[in-house]
Amino acid sequence: MKTDLLIGNEWRAAAKRYCLTNPATEEPLAEVAEAGEAEIDAAVRAARACLESKQWRELPARKRGALLYRLADLLEQRSKDLADVETKNNGKPLFESKIDVAMAIETFRYYAGWADKLTGDTLPVNGNFFTYTLREPVGVVGAIVPWNFPLNLASWKVAPALAAGCTVVLKPAHETPLTALMLGELAVEAGFPAGALNVVPGPGAVAGAALVRHPGVDKIAFTGSTEVGQWIMREAAATVKRVTLELGGKSPNIIFADADLSAAVRGAQTGIFYGKGEVCAAGSRLLVERAVHDQIVEQLAERAKKLTPGDPFDKNTRLGAVVSKRQQETVLSYIAAGQKEGARLIAGGKPATVNGKGYYVEATVFDAAQPGMKIVDEEIFGPVLAVLTFDDEEEGIRLANRSLYGLAAGIWTKDVQKAHRVARAIKAGTVWVNTYNFYDPAAPFGGYKFSGFGRDLGREALDNYTETKTVWIGL
Ligand code: NAD
Repeated sequence: MKTDLLIGNEWRAAAKRYCLTNPATEEPLAEVAEAGEAEIDAAVRAARACLESKQWRELPARKRGALLYRLADLLEQRSKDLADVETKNNGKPLFESKIDVAMAIETFRYYAGWADKLTGDTLPVNGNFFTYTLREPVGVVGAIVPWNFPLNLASWKVAPALAAGCTVVLKPAHETPLTALMLGELAVEAGFPAGALNVVPGPGAVAGAALVRHPGVDKIAFTGSTEVGQWIMREAAATVKRVTLELGGKSPNIIFADADLSAAVRGAQTGIFYGKGEVCAAGSRLLVERAVHDQIVEQLAERAKKLTPGDPFDKNTRLGAVVSKRQQETVLSYIAAGQKEGARLIAGGKPATVNGKGYYVEATVFDAAQPGMKIVDEEIFGPVLAVLTFDDEEEGIRLANRSLYGLAAGIWTKDVQKAHRVARAIKAGTVWVNTYNFYDPAAPFGGYKFSGFGRDLGREALDNYTETKTVWIGL
C-alpha cells in the first residue's frame, strides 16, 4: 500500500509520518506521510504546471473522459481491496464500504460522460455581434474531504473537477487517507498526466489551511464541519478563491400518522444508524405525529436494542465502530447532555467493545426530546436519535425547519398532496419521501442555511469547476 504523498505522479516522502489506528480493533493500521506547508506548495505547483501544460490543456475533452472511464475500470478491479481498506480505516461495516466504492465508481463513470458535453451558448444580443460563451476550467482545485465517506466524497469532487479540465490537490481527512492514496495510485496507472491529481494527507489546521491560503489554488471544494467551512470562507477572501461548502446537518425525518408505519420505522432506523450516524444527512431528529408516537417509539427502541455493535468484517454487522476514540468521547458527551437535559433514554446510551476492543457506541434513542436541548440542536455525528412529537402538519414543518442546518429531510406519508406540500415547505437541499439516505451521481446534493452552498453531484456540480467566458465578435 502506498503511504507517501502523491505529487506530480511521484511518491514523495515527507519530513513527518503519523500512525493510523483501526478503530474497530485499536491495532496500528499504517504509517502515513504527513504533508506540511512545503509539501502542499509542491503539490499546488505540480497541479498548476499540469493545468498549463499542453498535455492537459490540449487534451481533447473526449480523451479526458476516456481517462476517467479507465480510472473507473481500475477502481472496479480493485474494489474488494478498496472496501477492505475503507472498513479498516473508518470502522464501518464491510457491506457499507462496498456500497461506497460502488458509488465512487459510478461517480467517475457519470462525469466521464460529461467531459465532452460541457458547452457554451450562442446569445441573442442587441446589435451587430456574434456573441457566445465558453466554459473553461476554473483552474487548480483544492479538494478537502472528511473521514466519514473517504473515497466516495473524494470522488464527488475529483471526478467533476477532472472532467471539467481542472487539476486537483486532494487533501483527505487526517484520520482516513488510505483509499484516497489508492485512488491516486490508480489515476497514475490510468494514464493521467503528472500533476492532474495529487494526494496529500495531513492535518487540517496545517495541510488543509495551507491549501486554503495558497495563491496558486483557484477553488476550494470542501466537505466537513460548519465551523471549518466558516473559517475557510473567511480565509479564502484574501485570494478571492471560489469556494463551495458541503457542511453539517441535523436532518428531520418526519413520520405522519397516515404513513406505512413499519416502513417508516425501518427508514427511521437506517436514517440514523447507517454509517454509525456519521453521515452528514443522518435523520438525527425524528419528528413523530402524536397519534402514532407510542407505537413508533416502542418499535424503534426494540429495533435499536437488537442492533448490537459488531465486527465490521462480519457480514451480519449493521453497526460498526465510530471513527476514533475522540469521536467516541464526543458522542458519549452528547448522550450525557441528553440525560442531563431531561430527554428519556429508551435504548442504548453506552460505549461498547467487540472482543474487548474498539471505539463503539450503542444504538441510542432518546424520546421526549425538545428544541433547545443539545441533542436536538447540535450535530452529534454518531448513532444517537432524538425523538420529538408534533400535533399537526404545520407544527411538523415548523419543528423541521427549526434548525440552523438544512441539508436533508425525510417525509413518511401515504398522502401524495401532503408529501409535495411538505417537501416544498422544508428548507433543505434534499427531501426523501417514503425513503431515506439514497444517493446517485445524477442527483445534486448539498445544503441550505448552515449546511453550506454549492451542489455536489449531478450537472450542477460541474458549475463549481467551470468559469463562463463571454466572447463578442463585432460583425
Ligand atoms: P472537519 O471539518 O473537522 O474536517 C473536514 C476536512 O477539513 C478534513 O480533511 C480536515 O483535515 C480538514 N480541515 C480541518 N481544519 C481545517 C482548516 N483549518 N483548514 C482547512 N482544512 C481543514 O470535519 P470532520 O470531523 O472530518 O467531518 C465531519 C463533518 O463533515 C460533519 O460536520 C459532517 O456533517 C460534515 N459532512 C458534510 C457532508 C455534506 O455533504 N454536507 C458530507 C460528509 C460530512
